[in-house]
Amino acid sequence: MSTKRDYYEVLGLQKNSSQDEIKSQYRKLALKFHPDRNKSPDAAEHFKEVSEAYAVLSDAEKRKLYDSYGHAGVDGRYSTEDIFQGSKVNFEDVFGSGFESIFENLFGRGGGGFRFGGFDFGFGGERGADMVYDTEITLEDVLKGKQEEIELPSDIQCEVCKGTGASPGTSARTCSVCNGHGQVRTSRSSGFSTFVTVQPCNTCRGQGKIIERPCSKCKGSGKQKGMRHFSFEIPPGIESGEYRIKGQGEPMSNGLSGDLIVRIKVMPHGKFKRDGADIFYDENISMIDATLGKKLTVPTLEGTEKIDVEAGSQPNTIIKLKGKGLPHQGSRGRGDQYVRFVVNIPKKIDKHQRKLLEELQDTMNSGE
Ligand SMILES: [Zn+2]
Ligand SMILES: [Zn+2]
Repeated sequence: MSTKRDYYEVLGLQKNSSQDEIKSQYRKLALKFHPDRNKSPDAAEHFKEVSEAYAVLSDAEKRKLYDSYGHAGVDGRYSTEDIFQGSKVNFEDVFGSGFESIFENLFGRGGGGFRFGGFDFGFGGERGADMVYDTEITLEDVLKGKQEEIELPSDIQCEVCKGTGASPGTSARTCSVCNGHGQVRTSRSSGFSTFVTVQPCNTCRGQGKIIERPCSKCKGSGKQKGMRHFSFEIPPGIESGEYRIKGQGEPMSNGLSGDLIVRIKVMPHGKFKRDGADIFYDENISMIDATLGKKLTVPTLEGTEKIDVEAGSQPNTIIKLKGKGLPHQGSRGRGDQYVRFVVNIPKKIDKHQRKLLEELQDTMNSGE
């Protein structure tokens, strides 16, 4: 009945294997088949297979069902979603404290499903396409964070039938097979247990209603292409890169929505260079100011700051303005601003200035 491989065989283990053996074997295989690391076309399938085997065998109750009744015992009782969701804690166990991010990467959750890459984890229908949104932000945005308001292509209510899917003047009738539930429940007994299976109704294709005269504009879907408003927060301290927002891509009815991939580019700044949370600023000063010292006002991301050029400052001297950099991404505190003195040697001087400098030269030479 089932073409699924034996879970123990999938993990290369014996039926009496301990939890530790199961865990360590899964860790080994998961890393081997992770689609980010393994580019072979079968990797995703293998990864799913070992993950499912682990999800079942690491859970005492599910393992017992599997040992007694095989795949039918587990599949009759749990949906794929249940198998993975119930095992979240087990995955945490395997991957340790960095688990959340690994879990999100591997099993990115959205629309009630689990998936990674373009690969669906077993249930629901098709997955909508990912959408890409490009945005450019300034260093000032990085400092404060930014609320981004965008319009995304989306399915909206059909304007002709107002979303009913039925031609105007007609209406849909309730499906008599499922009584409008869209689902059909069947139960069967096996040993002491009764397994209930819920499946989409075939007659109405899970819609719960039957449209005899579909709307000509939307062909009965009740939807048309349009735009929807979406806003999201770009957190302070962010770097250029790609960020994935689960489930905000192309919608897919009876399936998983795609993801929205936000490509953020932090624009170069006219005054500051950035390195992580620190920013760097070059202040040009004259050789006279470097020699004699001077009070200066330098720009910061939020305003200005007064600093002293000490008498006798050397070229490329760096002053640190503590806490005037950018926020650390995902943690408290801010980086620093570094001000570097670039000492300018005049290229053109007039006769008078030349005379003064020559006098200075004489005094300095005679002082040697
Ligand atoms: Zn319509
Ligand atoms: Zn039905």
